[in-house]
Amino acid sequence: MLNCLKVLASTLGGVFTGSLALVADGLDSLGNVISSFSTALFVKKALKPPDEDHPYGHVRSETLSAIITFSYLVSIMVILLHTLMERLGSSGGDLHREKRPSLRGNFHTF
Ligand SMILES: [Zn+2]
Repeated sequence: MLNCLKVLASTLGGVFTGSLALVADGLDSLGNVISSFSTALFVKKALKPPDEDHPYGHVRSETLSAIITFSYLVSIMVILLHTLMERLGSSGGDLHREKRPSLRGNFHTF
């Protein structure tokens, strides 16, 4: 519950201030909430005794929980990396596009 508040506070704060670090922190907290819920859900299911449909038991449903958490973390990583690259590009970090015009601009001032 406290984690849910942290998710909201960090993510909204990050979006409004444009702080990628705050957004990343919020998404990390959201990941904790998601993994907590999915772990609780799937571990509970994994402990169920074997039945007609699943004669070997439900142990493997625990793997599903890991897959969900892993997928979330990977997608967050990709989104953050993408945003990071975009930001580096727009602030002059992109050597191929940003440097040339600014260099030319500098020469004109001499
Ligand atoms: Zn079953």
